[in-house]
Amino acid sequence: MPQQAHQRDAPTGLFVNPAAGRRAEFEALCGAQFGRLRLADGADAALEVLATEQTDLLVIDLDRFDPGLDHDGLAALVAARGGAPTLVLCPFENARWLAALMACGPVEYAIAPLPDEVLQETVAARLRAGCTPVPELTPREREQQGLQDLRRQVREAIGDGEELGAMSERLCRALCGWPGVAHAALFHLQPGGDLRLQAQYGERGLNLARLLGRGDRLLQSPLRHAFPGLLAASANTVALLDAPEKSGEPLLAEALREHGIGMVLGLPIPSDGPGTPRGSLCLSFRAARTFSRIELDALAEVADLAAGGLRLADLNRESEEMLAQVTRLATSDALTSVANRRHGEALLETEIKRARRYRLPLALIAFDIDRFKTVNDRYGHPVGDMVLRTVAEVAQKLVRASDVLVRSGGEEFQVIASHTSAIDGLKMAEKLRAAIEQTEMPGVDQVTISLGVAQLGDQESADSLTVRANAALARAKRAGRNCVELAML
Ligand code: GH3
Ligand code: MG
Ligand code: MG
Repeated sequence: MPQQAHQRDAPTGLFVNPAAGRRAEFEALCGAQFGRLRLADGADAALEVLATEQTDLLVIDLDRFDPGLDHDGLAALVAARGGAPTLVLCPFENARWLAALMACGPVEYAIAPLPDEVLQETVAARLRAGCTPVPELTPREREQQGLQDLRRQVREAIGDGEELGAMSERLCRALCGWPGVAHAALFHLQPGGDLRLQAQYGERGLNLARLLGRGDRLLQSPLRHAFPGLLAASANTVALLDAPEKSGEPLLAEALREHGIGMVLGLPIPSDGPGTPRGSLCLSFRAARTFSRIELDALAEVADLAAGGLRLADLNRESEEMLAQVTRLATSDALTSVANRRHGEALLETEIKRARRYRLPLALIAFDIDRFKTVNDRYGHPVGDMVLRTVAEVAQKLVRASDVLVRSGGEEFQVIASHTSAIDGLKMAEKLRAAIEQTEMPGVDQVTISLGVAQLGDQESADSLTVRANAALARAKRAGRNCVELAML
């Protein structure tokens, strides 16, 4: 709400700073100059005061504020003054921030820290001067302010490049904030080679995926030489279509006109070195227009910012993939790709907790290849390895998606079977036994397994469950192998 200062004997003031100590200091030093001085710890609290109370002078002390976090709030605060006296105390290291705040409304500033008496005099002078009328911006200043806003919004949209999809969408949204832009799109060159429409925003109904015939493999689109967004990415050049008809593609021109688009600009998003760009930005304007030198510079900067964002998103994705791969390597067995022993132990603990929480049965099946030493001795270790892989594959196909197959030792495996009672565990074990018995393994005599099944007891630990399943397995071996035994409680 714009507020006008009135000259009164006892002016009112509002001081904003996050640190209680700074607020107390200011009150002690300058409080006497005000009939009433409010103190606020941040922009939100200050906005509340401004909304409800006449405030002759707003003093923002930028010390301890963070340009990254607090900019929007403080900008809103300055804007809410509507030209009423605002004094910004700005530590030297935050000076870059001043220009952005000044773009939101007239402010006077002093570089802090100031000696006590200078601060008192600065406040007094500001109070004497009263209200500064909002100066009319010249068209050039307005243009510069618009571009500054655009840069800031693009920077915020890119953030730390976390997720490509969301970041690209935010970026297109920010670009649509630029006067005259009806629609913005980002095309991204895939690591594998082709161009993809990553995000678009703006003019409802204008769907570039539909217009261009596809959302991916766009370098093969018949419109790649006609549509500026594609041309910019494929030819690495700024491409401007200042009248849809000039595209030479009547259907494209008609579709653009239908959505009120009079001009389309494609900007390559540069790659790190020479060569193919990372993609392109495509801005659709309501009407044809020309660009000033500073606008072209700003657009080039926006394309650079987008390049930085894409690079960050790529790096984030790569490091996530690497992490996933490391996790896979650390948790699975190299020969059979099923869970390794250590991971199996962790999963068993988790499943036991889950079974307790939801009062569900849980079974552990332990199995071991019969006379496997003979397989190795007779056919050699590589054939033994092939048998191990085949047994794991057959078992993996048989168990349910919610069950976990673990290679618990050399030729020993476990199935952690959730939601499974002893009876169902026995059935599953018998199915496994029969399946292995029936599996032909090239060049090897029949392979069989022996199995032990145990159902989790009420208070039982993972160790005890494992010991019981193994004991049942040992009994199956003693009983002649190729059979299933149920563990005692
Ligand atoms: P049982 O029926 O009593 O289980 O007899 P077995 O011969 O299977 O049991 P034993 O424990 O005597 O032998 C297990 C063999 O498994 C010995 C070991 O060389 C072999 N083995 C363990 N890990 C691997 C592996 O990764 N590859 C191959 N090829 N053999 C392995
Ligand atoms: Mg064995
Ligand atoms: Mg064994």
